Amino acid sequence: MAFSNATCIITTSDGFKSGNHKYTKKYSKKVAKYSRILAKKKKGSCNKNRARLNLAKIHAKVADCRKDFTHKLSSRLVNENQVISCETLQVRNMVKNRKLSKAISDCNWGELIRQLEYKCDWYGRDFVKIDRFFPSSKTCNNCGAVKDTLPLHIRKWHCSSCNSLLDRDLNASINIKVAGQAIIAFGA
Ligand SMILES: [Zn+2]
Repeated sequence: MAFSNATCIITTSDGFKSGNHKYTKKYSKKVAKYSRILAKKKKGSCNKNRARLNLAKIHAKVADCRKDFTHKLSSRLVNENQVISCETLQVRNMVKNRKLSKAISDCNWGELIRQLEYKCDWYGRDFVKIDRFFPSSKTCNNCGAVKDTLPLHIRKWHCSSCNSLLDRDLNASINIKVAGQAIIAFGA
């Protein structure tokens, strides 16, 4: 399983792409509207308190939707797979990219990993975290050639050694799966 870009939270090695809920975006207009209303109300007034409560309700709604999505996704992954291997986020360091950081916080990746870990434990699945540096995106899963650079916006690329056309996230996911299998087999 590979963490994907903003349009898709994860991609699995058998090609499943989870999609992304984008609740923060969906509710951003409402949040802005109720924030404006709140700002206009007089300090200490009943109206101000009511406006504050309304805004808090929207934030709670976003958090609930996100939590629900993450739970459904983690349960599905654990149900359908005996082994789940994933990279830890530090490896990709994507949060350092400003443009992506908002989308990433919406993805709830940290929470997804946490849920996968304990659900795998509950249901007797193997959970493998790949937390060493491993060029999962840049390595061709077909022939093992490693590309020098692969900017984030490139979603598909041709391997110059074997000429395979590779989907960035699917390719990474297959590499992570193989790395996970190696860790289970050899304790590497
Ligand atoms: Zn290749």
